[in-house]
Amino acid sequence: MTSPPPHFRPRLATTVRLALGGLLLLFSLSVWVSLPLLGGIVDKANQVRDEYLPDLTRWRYNTQRTEQLYGFIQTLYWSTDSQVARNSRLQAQVLLDSFAFAPGSVQVAQVSRIFLDIQALARLRDRQRFFLSELQALAGTLQRDDAMSGDAARFAASCTRLGLIGTDWQALAREANELQALLSADPARVFSELQTRFLQLQALEVQIGQTYQQAIEQQKQLAASFNSDTALKTQQIAVAVERKADQIRLYGLVSMGLLGTITLGMLYAFQRLLLRPILRCTRALEQLNTGQPVQLPRRTLFHELDTICQSVSQYSDTTRQLQRVNQELLQLSQQDGLTGLSNRRHFDAMLAAEHARTSRHGHDLALILIDIDHFKVVNDRYGHLLGDECLRQLAGVLRRFSQRPGDIAARYGGEEFALVFPEMGLEQSRLLAERLRQTVAELIILSDTGEPVSFTVSLGLIHTDRVSQHTPASMIHQADLALYQAKQLGRNRVEIAEDAVVAT
Ligand code: GH3
Ligand code: MG
Ligand code: MG
Repeated sequence: MTSPPPHFRPRLATTVRLALGGLLLLFSLSVWVSLPLLGGIVDKANQVRDEYLPDLTRWRYNTQRTEQLYGFIQTLYWSTDSQVARNSRLQAQVLLDSFAFAPGSVQVAQVSRIFLDIQALARLRDRQRFFLSELQALAGTLQRDDAMSGDAARFAASCTRLGLIGTDWQALAREANELQALLSADPARVFSELQTRFLQLQALEVQIGQTYQQAIEQQKQLAASFNSDTALKTQQIAVAVERKADQIRLYGLVSMGLLGTITLGMLYAFQRLLLRPILRCTRALEQLNTGQPVQLPRRTLFHELDTICQSVSQYSDTTRQLQRVNQELLQLSQQDGLTGLSNRRHFDAMLAAEHARTSRHGHDLALILIDIDHFKVVNDRYGHLLGDECLRQLAGVLRRFSQRPGDIAARYGGEEFALVFPEMGLEQSRLLAERLRQTVAELIILSDTGEPVSFTVSLGLIHTDRVSQHTPASMIHQADLALYQAKQLGRNRVEIAEDAVVAT
């Protein structure tokens, strides 16, 4: 018959090494994954510093320039002084050149358009100025003409004082036309000339107004594009950093959850697979030591712990067998082999214990020595086997007479026996000895030939209520003296020793 294959049990050392290795791997993995993510955050921060911050600064700078540009356009439009207008145009030009753009961006085209508008605005104003100066020169010649009527002369005089800005050229053209009809041929031709000039100035004014509106519109669009670009870039940075932070947060949550679950699992496995078997083994060993019923440890997963558990089981079995053997050996060492009563050595120990106890509590103590009368004759006549049977029968009687806890019945030696009765009065012990004697005398043992055999015993009794003033040896000695006296006085009788206190 082949034995079943042994159940596979992993080795604890290998498992612990594997678990630690796994944890280390997991930890390394988490570091390996988290480092690029953290690096991404650092990269984003660097990107903000290296790329976006200069961009933001540049846009802010451009925004300020756009505001200044607005001022120059206003000056070009409203200024009557050609020198101021020229300076503004030049400054606007320098300003437009100083814009910082990414090449090819929309703003480059916008700035070019504004530049063209500013140039057109300046050119148109210059032309207006030129036409106005011509008109004023013409009006000056009219003013000096004596043939002019009062209204026409006044009109001519007012024309020499006209300003470039805020003048209603159309109304003036109409007035010139009306006055022209009232004049003679030559002044009328000049007034017609004036009317033409006014209409040219008006046409230029319309063009200037359109160009101005166009430039202002372009400037507003440019400013708006800067603002929206700045906002867009800022939002892009925020979104990029937020995405990285979200990734790290997600990774942190996952890795923390994973590590937490693994740690809980390991703790549970540690408790169930390591701690519990060890505690079971320890409890079994404690139960063995304290003599309680032993709960044997079950088989466990790991090879090493399983070996320990099995060893504890075997040790428990061996110990219980040893305890049984020891118990039997102890009993044997305390028993008399023939009668089953306590032997002399055990009797001495128990007498000493009872003597000490009754002495401590001040109780009575009675001791009886019993000796079979003429036993040699019984042996000689019926043989030793029958003599042994007599000894067994007598032992049975003694056992029946010593049933209380603390009572002692022992084979003292050969055919001599001893009884000890703690907490028994003198009269009670005397009666008991007497009944014992009678009981023995009434025993009948059949010999091999069927002949009834009987025998008697002599008893020496010592009783004392002053146990502390005796020693176990002195009590035995006095009981022995009484026994001797019983023999002397004819046997088959009870003699009571006088309670003679030992001299201390
Ligand atoms: P007495 O009345 O004076 O006590 O007389 P006795 O014959 O009993 O006294 P003795 O001491 O001379 O004899 C004791 C006898 O007891 C001797 C011995 O053969 C016998 N004996 C002692 N132990 C055993 C035993 O275990 N079995 C048997 N069959 N006899 C024993
Ligand atoms: Mg004897
Ligand atoms: Mg005898």
